[in-house]
Amino acid sequence: MIVMKFGGTSVEDGAAIDRSCQIVAQRIERRPFVVVSALGGATNALLEAGKLAADRQLDKALAIATSLEQRHLELLPSTVSDFTKLRELLGALSAIGELSPRTLDLIASYGEAMSSLIFTHRLNELGYRAVHIDARRVMVTDDTFGKAAPLLDLTSARLEEFARPRIQAGQIAVMGGFIGTTTSGITTTLGRGGSDYSAAIVGAAMNAEEIQIWTDVDGMMTADPRIVPDAYKVKEISFSEAAELAYFGAKVLHPLTVLPAVDKGIPVYILNSRKPGGTGTRVTKDAGPCTNLIKSIASKRGITVVTVSSSRMLMAHGFLRALFEVFDRHRTAVDMVATSEVSVSLTLDNVAALPAILEELKPLGEVTVQDHLALICMVGNNLKYTPGIAYRAFGSVKDINILMVSHGASNINLSFIVAESDANNATQKLHAEFFGEFDRKIFEPPV
Ligand code: ASP
Ligand code: MG
Repeated sequence: MIVMKFGGTSVEDGAAIDRSCQIVAQRIERRPFVVVSALGGATNALLEAGKLAADRQLDKALAIATSLEQRHLELLPSTVSDFTKLRELLGALSAIGELSPRTLDLIASYGEAMSSLIFTHRLNELGYRAVHIDARRVMVTDDTFGKAAPLLDLTSARLEEFARPRIQAGQIAVMGGFIGTTTSGITTTLGRGGSDYSAAIVGAAMNAEEIQIWTDVDGMMTADPRIVPDAYKVKEISFSEAAELAYFGAKVLHPLTVLPAVDKGIPVYILNSRKPGGTGTRVTKDAGPCTNLIKSIASKRGITVVTVSSSRMLMAHGFLRALFEVFDRHRTAVDMVATSEVSVSLTLDNVAALPAILEELKPLGEVTVQDHLALICMVGNNLKYTPGIAYRAFGSVKDINILMVSHGASNINLSFIVAESDANNATQKLHAEFFGEFDRKIFEPPV
């Protein structure tokens, strides 16, 4: 059997759902287990409605429910009963005036609960034998609402009981992603973007031959095609390369979510539901040989650099600890670090707590902040031990000012910071330098 996961844009409306149903139908002999996201935008809308209701803006919350209802009723009239319940829930929230993570999960779960029923219904209508698997019966998790962790043994047992026999009988199993349940039956969610995680858990638990993540892009690219129009598709990428890229801006897939499958050696493919004939990108456990040094270049805007300079740091210990503790206290992740004997620079992308952080950094030294910066990240194989890589990389951007560099901490990542206004130029130059020739086994030119 295979697991086929369809993201929000692949089920955003009737036409997208029909396209996705056909993709499933064409693979029926491979015994698909389908995992679907909520209709595109539905999760955001549900969460927004919940927050508005708890903020006693019930009218606005109900207006969101009504527009969501129109989209769903058109596809499956019986979802009307879900909206009756959702409205009751929103009414109760506005009466109480507060929203717990547990209730937020319940509200968010409506998206996948309904999209999975819609998908099942449509497959049946088209003449295929599909059966709905209720995630609230099989995806067993702990009770960390908002980011629940699946309990693999229990989930496995329930999949064997509720899904395996159906699939063996030739039916297409369809389940909502993202949703889980505690052992006592309380609805949870696996966190934003969690449907990929659901798909990987199902694949790993049921020993699928393959997991297909159907989305709206051709796969991982050598660079963002909006910045580099002749970027290539990357046919094969290792899990760790994909992980570096995901953080640094390539939002195709959060690779941690597919780790359960990759770990078991189950191939994971990223595929485009608008171009189902494409070969997509295969995420593998280890990187195979590639004649290009670099696999992909990603960039991330909105980076802020904080620099702390202090002569007290000269030959002192404990300074870095004091510094990082400040960021830790404010739950702010630091991404890149560069130090000299008397200064430390670090990058942030979340500046929500920055004013408070700066206040606490003052006693440590002189603090400066630079914003509107971008991080450029090159991912490839064995970068740390390849002579000439820094020469080529920095040579190709010799006219661009570089504010900070990180190289050597990872063997697969070389990153640097430039002004936001230089980011596209830097990406284009690097791409031209490293992809003048390309390994046809690994890369595919745009068609
Ligand atoms: N619908 C959920 C979200 O938007 C889960 C997913 O799409 O993967 O986060
Ligand atoms: Mg998604």
